[in-house]
Amino acid sequence: MSGVRYLDEFRDGSIARGLVKRIAEVARGLPVMRFMEVCGTHTVAIYRSGIRQLLPENIELISGPGCPVCVTPNRFIDRAIAYARRPDVTICTFGDMVRVPGSTSSLELEKGRRADVRVVYSPLDAVEIAQQCPERKIVFLGVGFETTAPTVGAAIEVAAKQRVANFFVSCGHKVMPPALTALTADGRLGLSGFILPAHVSAIIGVGPYEFLASQHGLAGVIAGFEPLDILYGILMLTEMLSEGRPAIAIQYRRVVRREGNPRALDVLQRVFTPRDDDWRGLGVIAGSGLAIGPAYAEHDAEANIHVEVEPTKVHPRCRCGDVLRGLCRPEECPLFAKVCTPEAPVGACMVSTEGTCAACYKYGRRLQEGQNNG
Ligand code: SF4
Repeated sequence: MSGVRYLDEFRDGSIARGLVKRIAEVARGLPVMRFMEVCGTHTVAIYRSGIRQLLPENIELISGPGCPVCVTPNRFIDRAIAYARRPDVTICTFGDMVRVPGSTSSLELEKGRRADVRVVYSPLDAVEIAQQCPERKIVFLGVGFETTAPTVGAAIEVAAKQRVANFFVSCGHKVMPPALTALTADGRLGLSGFILPAHVSAIIGVGPYEFLASQHGLAGVIAGFEPLDILYGILMLTEMLSEGRPAIAIQYRRVVRREGNPRALDVLQRVFTPRDDDWRGLGVIAGSGLAIGPAYAEHDAEANIHVEVEPTKVHPRCRCGDVLRGLCRPEECPLFAKVCTPEAPVGACMVSTEGTCAACYKYGRRLQEGQNNG
């Protein structure tokens, strides 16, 4: 955005009003356009800033599978719980994963039953714990997209180099472009374009998204997280569609480069290998996951620590799958805000602050109450 340099300016009301007006002008007379965001940070920003309510009727924003904790299926969590139940295992994980319900338990519940479950802030913390506790098997839960996978890959390399044989990763990392292919193929969504994930794009760059425009005629904009970034991204999407020239563009130029981050991509290449993977709500998507490659197989928890994983169950009325596919808004789930709340989450989308249901609960309801109160 030219002429906008400081944080306050990215929240400037008069610039926002100008962008909203311009979006309405460009969108006038066009068919309905449906833009999906596939990044949890965008989902939160959209709910918090009330951008949906500012757009013309023919522009619809849909939240997709952008929250890494949310798209991690029950089977992965059940496996983590099975590891945690072994007396010789310590689970290390980022905080959100602890509260995600599995089929019949959660890591939080297991911790209450004396399982050794620790929240860490970096996978390297888990390597350090492994060095301090050589008699235990330390299992780090590798969850997240291309953004977090390089740091986990780097930790695996450190463990291998320092011969920390009791450090393992349960690998649930996912990559975004194959999920976009799956969403594009879902005719029920009728998508016109994507607000593309900024953090993921800072790693992978623009190239992996080009197929959206060249093969499917969809527009894509890699947008930043401030309200003006998102509005500007929506304007860019609308302009591309109104001019009939869908393409992949970068709005978030202060962070994202067309080529991405070559050093992080090198780590991914060295440590991981692509595999078909299961996404909550989207099912198994070809080439959408990362497995630990043969060079580092001794650090792969799945290959080295045997556990029996219980049969998968989901709450019969939970609609997390439909929420993640963009087929249902959180308020349309019968459990939303009645049975399922951030304090007592039934589904994964209510656990992480980046989950669509959690964002809607926190900000969408406040907005609605504000509107009802005039
Ligand atoms: Fe799942 Fe709860 Fe959201 Fe319903 S409200 S879709 S149960 S997270």
